[in-house]
Amino acid sequence: MTNSTQAPTTAAEWDALDPLAKFRSEFHIPLQDDGSPQVYFVGNSLGLQPVKTAELLNEELENWRRLGVRGHFTGRFPWMPYHEFLTSAMAFLVGARDEEVVMMNSLTANLHLMMATFYRPDDRKRKILIESHAFPSDHYAVESQIRWHGLDPRDALIVVEPEYGQTTLEMDQVVKVIRREANELALVLLPGVQYYTGQVFDIERLTDEAHHHGVTIGFDLAHAAGNLRMHLHQWRPDFAVWCSYKYLNGGPGSVGGCFVHKRHAANTNLPRLAGWWGHDKQSRFRMETVFEPIPTAEGWQLSNPPILSLAAIRASLDVFRRAGGMEPLADKTRAMTSFFRKLLRERLSGRIEIITPEGPGCQLSLRVIDPKISGRQVKEQLDLSGFATDWREPNVIRAAPVPLYNQFQEIERFVNRLVEIFG
Ligand SMILES: *Cc1c(COP(=O)(O)O)cnc(C)c1O
Repeated sequence: MTNSTQAPTTAAEWDALDPLAKFRSEFHIPLQDDGSPQVYFVGNSLGLQPVKTAELLNEELENWRRLGVRGHFTGRFPWMPYHEFLTSAMAFLVGARDEEVVMMNSLTANLHLMMATFYRPDDRKRKILIESHAFPSDHYAVESQIRWHGLDPRDALIVVEPEYGQTTLEMDQVVKVIRREANELALVLLPGVQYYTGQVFDIERLTDEAHHHGVTIGFDLAHAAGNLRMHLHQWRPDFAVWCSYKYLNGGPGSVGGCFVHKRHAANTNLPRLAGWWGHDKQSRFRMETVFEPIPTAEGWQLSNPPILSLAAIRASLDVFRRAGGMEPLADKTRAMTSFFRKLLRERLSGRIEIITPEGPGCQLSLRVIDPKISGRQVKEQLDLSGFATDWREPNVIRAAPVPLYNQFQEIERFVNRLVEIFG
């Protein structure tokens, strides 16, 4: 990430040489009670607000005030095609073609829409494979799809668990189950980044393996979008879904993203749950009753989307674009997590165990293993001193230094604070 020949060693040196450092000022950093900025390591849960967001929201509020319904067709960014103004920037970040990506609905809704198309169980191929610590919403969505098809999750749901005594899954283990169950597997649904452990899944390898056995595979990229360098088009998963309020800084509850690989996106014969926004744009307003899907991921849209939410996402995607996309961000993430790991190893071994396997994501999940102080107490002390992290039962603190707005010196201060707390 640096042009200098000598690698930086101290946090201050890293920050001084960080080509992305200037983007920090493009975000509102939440403040502590004393007015100083928090150390915000929860961009994996809710990304920070870009300074530019208010301006883009105001522009649409103003258009609505001035133009009323005409805002659908006039103004700098008319609402009718508004979602299209996000597509290229979003597709660029996940390594997809424009026609493979659409911003719509929210994550779980998109997951259901994708399963309506890609989970088509028959007597033999009827099972869905997920991981045992799948995010609850994903688990509910999958179980309910199985039941909705008149099947029984006790038969049709395969849950892969880490080996006894392990916290994370080995990719080999997942591959083994795919091979073993291939004849009865209809769908594999896995995360790009496991939300609890921060483990990065090998999307390309798992996709190859599933396809080799004739099994459809989709990914939940909630913690991967805006975090990992991905090449979804080349990796060829059948579909993927994500939300925009975590690393993508789209704001609370903002509109989600959906990827349908080109080989399916162009297939207008695929069964789907349809709505008017997925209908061919030229004839949409003739209001006829024969549904003609748009031959891209847009063909899965249901409704005209919430423009204010899309405006907020545009503000953030613009920051990503000017930062150069995922390449430089992923490089900084590598450097930050290596630095973070090194400090934790040197100063907190025996007290904190890093459960996140080495990998390219920015989240480290820290298990508190000190017998003298509980994870809960450590987390409370962090909160009180302005270090924002999040908590997962029973003893895990998740900390995610985000390359767009976090600094190496914040990592150093975080570790210093932990050392003080452990006493
Ligand atoms: C954050 C997250 C969700 C949230 O789902 P919504 O439908 O956006 O509320 C779902 N799955 C995973 C894995 C997540 O991390």
